[in-house]
Amino acid sequence: MSDSREGLLTIDLQAIGENYLDLCDRLASGSRCGAVVKADAYGLGMAQVAPALHRRGCRDFFVATQAEGESLRRALGDAVNIVVLTGVRDGAELECARAGLVPTLFTLQQLRNWVAICAREKLAAPCAVKVDSGMTRLGMTPEEFEQLLADPELLRAANIQLLLSHLACADEPQHPLNEIQLRSFKRAGERLRAQCPEVLLSLANSSGIFLGEEYHFDIARPGSALYGVNPVPGSRNPMRAVVELSLPIVQKRHVSGDQQVGYGATQSIAAGSWLAVARGGYADGILRAQSGRGCGWGGGRRLPMVGRVSMDSTTFDISALSAAERDTLDSIEVLNRELTVDEVAEYAGTIGYEILTSLGNRYFRRYLRS
Ligand SMILES: *Cc1c(COP(=O)(O)O)cnc(C)c1O
Repeated sequence: MSDSREGLLTIDLQAIGENYLDLCDRLASGSRCGAVVKADAYGLGMAQVAPALHRRGCRDFFVATQAEGESLRRALGDAVNIVVLTGVRDGAELECARAGLVPTLFTLQQLRNWVAICAREKLAAPCAVKVDSGMTRLGMTPEEFEQLLADPELLRAANIQLLLSHLACADEPQHPLNEIQLRSFKRAGERLRAQCPEVLLSLANSSGIFLGEEYHFDIARPGSALYGVNPVPGSRNPMRAVVELSLPIVQKRHVSGDQQVGYGATQSIAAGSWLAVARGGYADGILRAQSGRGCGWGGGRRLPMVGRVSMDSTTFDISALSAAERDTLDSIEVLNRELTVDEVAEYAGTIGYEILTSLGNRYFRRYLRS
């Protein structure tokens, strides 16, 4: 157990697999479920997470960068589709094509360039095209997409495998932009397919799956829900919790007079209180923004954080525990089934995604398999 001295991060691959199957079950017939494993599978370890998803039948993976795609290709071999969501680096087109990675191209110039390079090398490498349906981030503008549709030669030369777009407000089902993006994407898909019938369509992220079957198209691209983040904020989380993070207590102390705790002496604590100082601070992803608001979990209850979160340690008020509970407590959990990534995100004024991608690399990581 000495490895877990700096904290124990448990990642439940079985739960990720069940979340994947749960999302598959929710899809309209004829659509299949991919998985987004960018940013090291949202901080949980792509090398462990992707094979677990593959074992559950996932064959369409989405990463953010070419480097992520290359390492995923090494991990999973040739029998999976790997789409790079942020396109291809200038000058790296050949590497990308030879690694069998499908770049998401979002300007006409990128597409022309890709087609020219593939033609020169006699590679029929597939690509994906992204259209902007209303988020105004990455994607061809409507004008550019019109130009693409009006260029049958380019369409014939380009091996477009996938048309995708991304929803801006999928986690707010009532938001009018969802409907607008749906209509815009559907129309773009119909028009492209009229010329390239083989192209598959993909719109939905995790929350998009919960907007209804018309959002599912051919391939869904969930990320966060696989990792336990609630895809339907405000309603009960249908996904299984995936991470548990336990911090070892390195000092317990009894406060004899009224005192202030931690940097800046920001929070007062009454005489007679009991404090526990645990290893793990903002350098480990215990976001400092939750200082004075966040909590940990021990003895079956929430224990408030006190004072500011430090770089390497966090202090908790454990006065609510009985003397016996206090004595036996040797660690405090800061993420678990009860204290979810979404709850912690709320304390820190952020989203569950950021809680996951911030998880530090000083913890001992334990993977639970089926
Ligand atoms: C990150 C990302 C996803 C996954 O989104 P979640 O909300 O985590 O399900 C899907 N599509 C694109 C283009 C993304 O960048």
